[in-house]
Amino acid sequence: MFNEINYSEIEFAAYNRKSSEQDERQALSVESQVEKAVEVAERLSINLKDEYILRESKSAKKSGKRSIFEGVIKDIEKGRIQGIITWHADRLSRNAGDAGRLVDLMDEGKLKCIITYQQIFRNTPADKQMFTITCAQAKMENDNKGENVKRGLAKKRRMGYLPAMAKIGYMNDKGEKGFRKTLIDEQRFPLVKKLLEMFLTGKYSVRELHKIAVNEMGLTTVPRKRIGGKSIKLSALYRALKDPFYAGFFHGKDDEGIIRRYEVNESVPRMVTESQHRKILSLLRRPNMPRSWVYRNDFPYKKHLKCGDCGGSITAEKKVQMICKECRKKFSLGHKTACPKCGVRIKGPKSGKILNYEYYHCVKKKNPKCPGKNISESEINGFFVQNVVSRLAVSPALRDWCIDSIRVLERREEMYGGKIEENWMNRLQNVQEQRKRLVSAHINGLINKEEFERENDRIEEETATIEAKIGKKGHSTEDLRGIEKKFDLLTEIRDIIENGSSEEKMEALSILGSNLTLTKKKLSVTNDFFCSTLEKYFDVAKSKNPRFEPEKTPANKDETEVFASVRPTMLRG
Ligand SMILES: [Zn+2]
Ligand SMILES: [Zn+2]
Repeated sequence: MFNEINYSEIEFAAYNRKSSEQDERQALSVESQVEKAVEVAERLSINLKDEYILRESKSAKKSGKRSIFEGVIKDIEKGRIQGIITWHADRLSRNAGDAGRLVDLMDEGKLKCIITYQQIFRNTPADKQMFTITCAQAKMENDNKGENVKRGLAKKRRMGYLPAMAKIGYMNDKGEKGFRKTLIDEQRFPLVKKLLEMFLTGKYSVRELHKIAVNEMGLTTVPRKRIGGKSIKLSALYRALKDPFYAGFFHGKDDEGIIRRYEVNESVPRMVTESQHRKILSLLRRPNMPRSWVYRNDFPYKKHLKCGDCGGSITAEKKVQMICKECRKKFSLGHKTACPKCGVRIKGPKSGKILNYEYYHCVKKKNPKCPGKNISESEINGFFVQNVVSRLAVSPALRDWCIDSIRVLERREEMYGGKIEENWMNRLQNVQEQRKRLVSAHINGLINKEEFERENDRIEEETATIEAKIGKKGHSTEDLRGIEKKFDLLTEIRDIIENGSSEEKMEALSILGSNLTLTKKKLSVTNDFFCSTLEKYFDVAKSKNPRFEPEKTPANKDETEVFASVRPTMLRG
């Protein structure tokens, strides 16, 4: 049976569809398909109307989801068209359902033929069978290709490699395609790592980090054939911050198509740990990123302050206020982006005057009912200046004199070490004898209470001093260096506490070893051995000469002699 067809009597639709899935076999672009369809129509003298040159943008993998294809089916059912021109059968049908519907329409006599670039399928049993087979073959190839691709990707993931373009900071080696290993991008790895670390400090917003990446680091994407080589985009930086790959894992489908976690191959260095990655995610979730120009989390006194009311730790908070440049309104900055009165936008520190208030208060963890009160950083500063700085600051000349004296003692001790030690032991014994006599004199009523207490204080003080000497027998060079460091600091301490940065203050407090206690809104301080000893010597020197001011002692003999007069007491600082 052979049906001769007169193409000029048939209305045709040219159906063109692009491939939208990556694993679908390479198809011509829609416009190339249109060109081919027009070529076929001309070859067969078909009058193809412009309105029937159709372009479908959706894939045909799941039937029933292509609106243009559905329109073609309807037009055939309604008898408006009787033929289809298409580049390949797989453009029309990618599943058995689609092919079946077209064959049904042929059986009903409504569809007379399907013309592809290479073949004509007429309404004959052989052609219909061929059409069905061609469609099935296309589907099978597509499925196989998909399966192979899926298996290949899953295998690569299991090996700990991303089957995709390398993340910024890394690169793929030039090995066999699909099995390329991940290497470090020497140029970008340290920059991206630095950015992640900076973000982890909590001091930078993504936007600020982006500015640093672009303007200061000059971080660009990897140049490729058509893209890349440009400054990293803000959105790309966001993605990089969120990306777990930098912490050594990623997510992808396994052989069964189930999404699971894969560990990055051990040969690939990580930029952050997994817990750092989680911290980055939680920082990103904050309702508003910090503004570095008002943000501070380095409170210098935090580590050196204890709550005297409950013995717990002290924490600190910062409150920032702004005085609007436009309307002079003073308001708490918080996360506001505009002045609450006049609505002018807050763009940065120049949008108004910034007022900072740092408050320290008990964490109330040890005792939730602790009555501890707030104290401002400026109050602590004031106390510290009055009670530590003013009492211990030394002039450079006095520092030199003290260090020289210690060196002299050091040398003398090296020479007479044993004798000095013996001497101290004798003195200790002597003081203990004195104490025994004092106690018995007091018990026997030979001295009154006042006399006893005065003598007792003196003896206790001397005992402590001698015991300290014996305990600290033989300064090592390291000790001396530590003492020099402290003296150096004491020449600058006022400037640091009054004008220094938080970091400088924190370092100074650590070197000095001063600890503060906050009790009922009142501060007190305890100094380490060095500072308390020095303070004692200064007090003695001051009592001998009220004009003695350690902080102002010039390199002048008269003044230093005042200090030299207390030298016997100051055997070692
Ligand atoms: Zn407390
Ligand atoms: Zn305003």
